Amino acid sequence: MKCKKCGIEISPDDSYEHSGQALCEDCYLDIMATPKTCDPWAVYSAKNTTSQEMILTADQQKIIDLIKTNGPITLDRICTDLGVSGEEFLRNFATLRHMELARGCKVEGQICYTLFDDPST
Ligand SMILES: [Zn+2]
Repeated sequence: MKCKKCGIEISPDDSYEHSGQALCEDCYLDIMATPKTCDPWAVYSAKNTTSQEMILTADQQKIIDLIKTNGPITLDRICTDLGVSGEEFLRNFATLRHMELARGCKVEGQICYTLFDDPST
């Protein structure tokens, strides 16, 4: 099968569904985690932060701590554990992903989030 957005070849195992369309991981996460234009700080910080000088917000640090200990874990679990909405999480996740600190993955067919360099997925 092919990603509906960018057209690359994907296996059903690596496909992510969004609005009934099959997408590759990159396109799916782009759609789910694109920082909103009304949140310039997230875009700014994602583009300007280098790995030597990473300043995370309190929420972002909490996400990293949680997935470091429990990852890969689902969005539901993250929201429950941190008491944030899915949208809030995804906005922070977008920044973390740009910094290459966190990424999405699939565990037993479920979309989960984990550390960028998690070797188990
Ligand atoms: Zn794609």
